[in-house]
Amino acid sequence: MGEGHVRTAACIAVGSELLEEDRLDTNSLTVTRVLLEHGVRVVEKRVVGDDEEVVSGAIRELMARVDLVVVTGGLGPTADDVTREAVARALGVELVHDPAVEAWIRARYAEFGREMPEVCTSMAMVVPGARVLRNARGSAPGILVERDGAILAVFPGVPREMERMLREDLVPLLEERGGGRRRLRRTLLVSGLVESEVEDRIRHLYGRYGRENVTILAAQGLVRLVLHAEGTPEEAAARLDEMERAFREGLGDHVAGVDVDGLAEVVLGLLRGRGQGLATAESCTGGLLGAMLTEVPGSSDVFRGGVVSYSNESKETLLGVSHATLMEHGAVSEPVARAMAEGARSVLGCDWGIGITGIAGPGGGTPEKPVGLVHWAVAGPEGTVHRSRIFPGSRSFIRRWVANAALDLLRRMASGAEVP
Ligand code: ATP
Repeated sequence: MGEGHVRTAACIAVGSELLEEDRLDTNSLTVTRVLLEHGVRVVEKRVVGDDEEVVSGAIRELMARVDLVVVTGGLGPTADDVTREAVARALGVELVHDPAVEAWIRARYAEFGREMPEVCTSMAMVVPGARVLRNARGSAPGILVERDGAILAVFPGVPREMERMLREDLVPLLEERGGGRRRLRRTLLVSGLVESEVEDRIRHLYGRYGRENVTILAAQGLVRLVLHAEGTPEEAAARLDEMERAFREGLGDHVAGVDVDGLAEVVLGLLRGRGQGLATAESCTGGLLGAMLTEVPGSSDVFRGGVVSYSNESKETLLGVSHATLMEHGAVSEPVARAMAEGARSVLGCDWGIGITGIAGPGGGTPEKPVGLVHWAVAGPEGTVHRSRIFPGSRSFIRRWVANAALDLLRRMASGAEVP
């Protein structure tokens, strides 16, 4: 293959099922992530049905515009698998039968004690001049070919088969072409600020580091700031260190963690470091917070357990919230949130307790206590802190948002950060 530097790419996802209402092309997300790590930017994506002419047209058009075209899907043996034929048509060649490839496929079936069905001989038809990629996780071979300075990589649609070929067959080629250059990324998890507030605090840095190297993603009360840097692996890592320092300056203790999945991971790490335990008492989140905590591997050394107290009785009997408090203030109130957090802490004998009570909707709101009103409290060694808010949005949105808000309150109390 030639020597050109690969900078731009396009993805084509082949499969009529991907044009229906219930399937999404996720292969292109994996391809984009892996290519970005190697400094190659996906500039266009297409989803096309099982139509040989449309697929070949897309391949031809995109190969004229970008350095690399990655096609996934449609390499199987059935009549609706048209990708091999489409590649041949796009390149203006005829497929030829390769007995060695047929032998691989037969051997693959034999591994599972089965005979290769005759239709599978179609998978042994190869593009002259192309590299045939052996499929270690399935039977359909992939294709790697270069034409007029553009690379065409064709992988099976099955995500795990595709990912393996992507990493083992395409990435080495990109590394060779890129002269060891990489594009690395680091993600700062920001809590307690909305997207526009984050933007206000960091936009003066865009000029220095390049707008295209900073991405802001917001979801459920959290903002992820994704930083990118290019160079040799050492240069890119040093650049990311510098960027992280500069962005942290603007964001202060709103930065909750770096390259973490979420706040649960941050809080568990923080409490683990101090040998402290955590318990939860949840009403409107119905165990969501407990699920978020237990999703993190190794959470059991910090998270002792939780009470889902969905009724007044369970708040009284399981958490010791007083009947009088419930009657006087109602279940969705500051005193009840505090009593739930303190109850969880004492019932489960932990250093920290979180209590959440609210009206997630869509029904159940009143003028004084509208849908979206949530009270949450964190009880710790130095006392209890309460916050409340009327959250906008759907039931599931409110539940996720408040679970994150409660985790953030605990993070701030435990780390000595400012509690806004
Ligand atoms: P094989 O014959 O080995 O299955 P193939 O190349 O013919 O390979 P397809 O039949 O197109 O693959 O797809 C196989 C599976 O992979 C299907 O379940 C399909 O939904 C899934 N798939 C295909 N393309 C994508 C995509 N772009 N994103 C996510 N899943 C996909």
